[in-house]
Amino acid sequence: MSSTPNPDLRNDPSPSTATLKAADLAHHLHPFTDHGELAGEGGARVIVSAKGCYLTDSDGDRLLDGMGGLWCVNIGYGRSELAEAAARQMRELPYYNTFFKTTMPVTTLLAEELAELAPEGLNRVFFAASGSEANDTNIRIVRSYWQKRGEPQRTVIVSRKLAYHGSTIAAASLTGLASMHDIPGIPIPDIHHAPAPNWWGEGGDMSPDEFGLKAARGVEETILAVGPERVAAFIGEPVQGAGGVLVPPSSYWPEVQRICRKYGILLIADEVICGFGRTGEWFGSQTFGIAPDIMTVAKGLSSGYQPISASIVHDRVAEVVFDTPGRFPHGYTYSGHPVAAAVARENLAILRREGIVERVGADIGPYFQQQLATLLDHPLVGEVRGVGLMAAVELTRDKAGRSEVQPVGSMSTPVRNACFANGLATRAVRDCLVFSPPLVISHAEVDELVSILRRSIDEALG
Ligand code: PMP
Repeated sequence: MSSTPNPDLRNDPSPSTATLKAADLAHHLHPFTDHGELAGEGGARVIVSAKGCYLTDSDGDRLLDGMGGLWCVNIGYGRSELAEAAARQMRELPYYNTFFKTTMPVTTLLAEELAELAPEGLNRVFFAASGSEANDTNIRIVRSYWQKRGEPQRTVIVSRKLAYHGSTIAAASLTGLASMHDIPGIPIPDIHHAPAPNWWGEGGDMSPDEFGLKAARGVEETILAVGPERVAAFIGEPVQGAGGVLVPPSSYWPEVQRICRKYGILLIADEVICGFGRTGEWFGSQTFGIAPDIMTVAKGLSSGYQPISASIVHDRVAEVVFDTPGRFPHGYTYSGHPVAAAVARENLAILRREGIVERVGADIGPYFQQQLATLLDHPLVGEVRGVGLMAAVELTRDKAGRSEVQPVGSMSTPVRNACFANGLATRAVRDCLVFSPPLVISHAEVDELVSILRRSIDEALG
């Protein structure tokens, strides 16, 4: 369209909600959205500001943000230190690239800081702007690793069902959600999906630990079906977040790690959600005893204030890929973006200064899990699972048999809608509600979250 469709809107310093909704419906294409449904509901909710753990929409209604944006606003909203860090950096140097054998002080210092924070041996950092891009980078790194090691046939990446690793074509291929493969050409070749450690959905009569071993065996069976000599890497989230906060039984990760080592397969821990305190340690790998070869980080690295992500690479991989002759043929315009890096550094400083990660591990994480677990007395709540400040509340009419709700989503969707109407932002995944609030949430706000959720279950399904 060559002319401005609504000239009044362009000149209006504070357009009305109705005007914004109409313009949005006419022009803005939303991710993962049925636009007919959105139009039927009158358009998108317009979020105008936020402070701490609360969002405010254009009608002036407040919502407790049970999702920390999209699993990312770890330090909460409205931290002016981050705004100031961004403004300072923009005035000094808003942009330069890292392609021309050049860097910026802030970018280098962030890389050094990530190496210091990350588990032993993870000392080399490749930057990008999103979790998807970082996982794309990881595919290249592991394939390049095996090429340089003289095993170029090792191109396969084993991922898992219900995994979420992003939405570029390669990352969507790693993702194990069938709905995301519903576009021709996805998944790309050489990506295989092992079963997920989804005890609620698939554990049957097994104890969680028995089932954890079975799910790990599923990883081995996938590797054997492909041929271990063809497998470059296994990728897994320490806790599968978007797949429904699937906290693996304690038997799972040690066994998966043993299997990867047995076949010499590299292990990529996708820490995009788990990183920076979500599970009560700096990284989910620490919570679950994983020693990865590469970690993907994003989201909580900047608390979502700026788009920034990274692949943090172990020395033993970096030496082969980056310290041998030849250049690594990959990079993004925004790799190491100085403004994003400045915001990330300030975010890390706040996490450290305020002891936010330690508080998740020792205080607010356990409190959150305990309070959510009080919902288990509700006849429609089957399981409450989680770790630190991530959790899922599984709705069911069959607590004992754990059969799948039919149609899928018919219990969670009305509860999710009731939560929003009652002032709580949450997300429905199959028939659970998932939570990932800012790490700075208070005890009183946890109480409020749980009480709105209980009321919303009663209102929607009672
Ligand atoms: N990995 C994981 C584990 C994620 O949860 C996500 C996003 N939810 C991604 C990767 C993709 O990140 P992005 O949306 O920034 O590309």
